[in-house]
Amino acid sequence: MKTQIRSLKLLGFLSLIFVINISAQIQTVELPEPGFEERIEKAIDDIWIIDTHEHLAFEEKMLEQKKKGDFDFTHLFKKYIDDDLVSAGYLPMVQQMVNNKSLPLIDRWEILEPFWQATRNTGYARVVIIAARDLYGIKEINAESVEQLSQKINDSYQTGWYKKVLKDNAKIDLSIVDVGHVKPDHEFYYHVERFDRFISVFSASEINDLGKKYEVEIKNLDDFVVALGKAFQEGLDYGMIGVKSGLAYKREIIYENTTKTDAEAVFNKVFSEDKKPISFEEVKPLQDFMMHRVLDLAKEHDLPVQIHTGLHAGGKNEIRNSNPTLLTNLFNEYPNVKFCIFHSSYPYGAELSVLAKNYPNVFIDMCWSQVISPYYCERYLHEWLEAVPANKIMAFGGDYSHVESAYGHSVMARSVVAKVLTEKVKGGYITEDEAIKVAIRLLRDNALEIFKLKGKSRDLSRLPALSKAGYTHDFWQMVKTGSGLIRHWMVIGPFPIGTENFTEEPPPGFHKVYPPEKKINFTGSYAGESGRIRWQKVTTGKSGILDFKSMFHRGKAIVYAYAEVISPDKRKMKFTFGSDAGAKIWINGKLVYNEHAWRGLGMDADIFEVDLIKGKNRILVKVEDKMYNWEMMMRMIDLNNEIKVVEWQDYQPGTL
Ligand SMILES: [Zn+2]
Repeated sequence: MKTQIRSLKLLGFLSLIFVINISAQIQTVELPEPGFEERIEKAIDDIWIIDTHEHLAFEEKMLEQKKKGDFDFTHLFKKYIDDDLVSAGYLPMVQQMVNNKSLPLIDRWEILEPFWQATRNTGYARVVIIAARDLYGIKEINAESVEQLSQKINDSYQTGWYKKVLKDNAKIDLSIVDVGHVKPDHEFYYHVERFDRFISVFSASEINDLGKKYEVEIKNLDDFVVALGKAFQEGLDYGMIGVKSGLAYKREIIYENTTKTDAEAVFNKVFSEDKKPISFEEVKPLQDFMMHRVLDLAKEHDLPVQIHTGLHAGGKNEIRNSNPTLLTNLFNEYPNVKFCIFHSSYPYGAELSVLAKNYPNVFIDMCWSQVISPYYCERYLHEWLEAVPANKIMAFGGDYSHVESAYGHSVMARSVVAKVLTEKVKGGYITEDEAIKVAIRLLRDNALEIFKLKGKSRDLSRLPALSKAGYTHDFWQMVKTGSGLIRHWMVIGPFPIGTENFTEEPPPGFHKVYPPEKKINFTGSYAGESGRIRWQKVTTGKSGILDFKSMFHRGKAIVYAYAEVISPDKRKMKFTFGSDAGAKIWINGKLVYNEHAWRGLGMDADIFEVDLIKGKNRILVKVEDKMYNWEMMMRMIDLNNEIKVVEWQDYQPGTL
């Protein structure tokens, strides 16, 4: 027995050493100076938060409501603690009695009290405790304090209460509210709007209602899309800064990119058989189609899209419907739309980590989740800060309908962020200074940039190097819009490279003069590497990359590409070029580029300046290949899009 105890002690000692070693392994910066915990906490308490999500009833509305009846303690026991109370066995009829103000206050408290005691361990309950303590000075809600608490809540509802709670207490600079089509007071709020009604349709009457609302007579799917466009425009006119989707409450969040034909077939069916209920499976192609149209609009107007994932409020919903990995196709298909994935995807935090890590357009929004479980947030924030860039995490959105709880939530969010960052600093993972910068990002700057508030944004054009006049600026303008690329080419190949084992540098084919160097004759056919070869017309994809290997299914050869551009005048023009491997370029018959090299494609890797003549200018490129990829790209630095590229659209092989 004794030996066993001794060996257990030894095991404990060894595991202690092991733990110390593990934390030492990831220490990358010097350990902080004493007092860092307090300094980090203070710095985080000083941050003016951008609150990414609320459903707040505005103050005027609450003051109106107060005229109809006094507020009491039940004010603090609404969303979301009521979900936990129900989970603990608080029946709807009991809840109705507690909310019934005709019954004596103390009796109502006594009915609620056992459920409160059973539930007070949860994250939601922290909000109630913090709000009662900090805003009303009530340390313990019980039979002795409940009347005083009720009185204080009722007295607090005066003009200015929201300012006191949101600004003075919670230090929330702005809240992004999801309360419908509104024009909120921008001193406190900005807003997002939902277009879920255009997606979650099952019947002609729902469609017609939307038509009436937006004054579009709906006869077909196109009309319905027009109505959506009008609703969206109304949102823009009201200054909405994003789109919200709460459809995870209604359906699985897989939105396939269905064809218009498929969507139209469903639309027509819904329209013709209104009386018959239609199943979700039947109507899904239409719903999915409309989600994609909403995303088209978000893309067109560069608005972020907030999507509910994970836990549903109110219980009784299918959690598997709201797994964030179901959205992957949208992340791929809309790379320019910023997706703010809500609620830390509780309980899919690990999946969310992968999505936010891999997709530049996926952002973690921790709204609501800090009260669902502070520890979950701690655990995942630790993980996310190791796996995901810090500019992709927003750490606070209250998600409440009343300010007291938004305040309570903000206290919890600050404390979770402070705790995680303090631990990271303590272990030497980051410095104290870095930790504070990360906190400012998480609680403020990321939201400002993503929603483009207060003049902030992630637009790279704001960088001094890209905004001051010069070639870098001009080049950036072209690169960011993908413009200036020559995408229309005539191509002929493969011609022999002239060597088997590439012992000569360059290979003989690089300098051998093949027919295209003498004369461009699209009707001609020549002896190629493997039989007669002719010119063929090729249009590149958006990338502008002309991929010879996929054209010829072989390499170790020479290819020619030819393009014509029309200039309105005589001018100097910069071209950029990249090729795999080396290349020669002739403009109007003059050799302007001659570089043999076994290299990979670098986009815009080389730059050269050319004298263009008025009218047609001829560009001939010769590219060699040894192995692997065989490709090229060319771009004109033509800021005003004045040079036209000949598209060869009328050309048929052998007809020129
Ligand atoms: Zn919400």
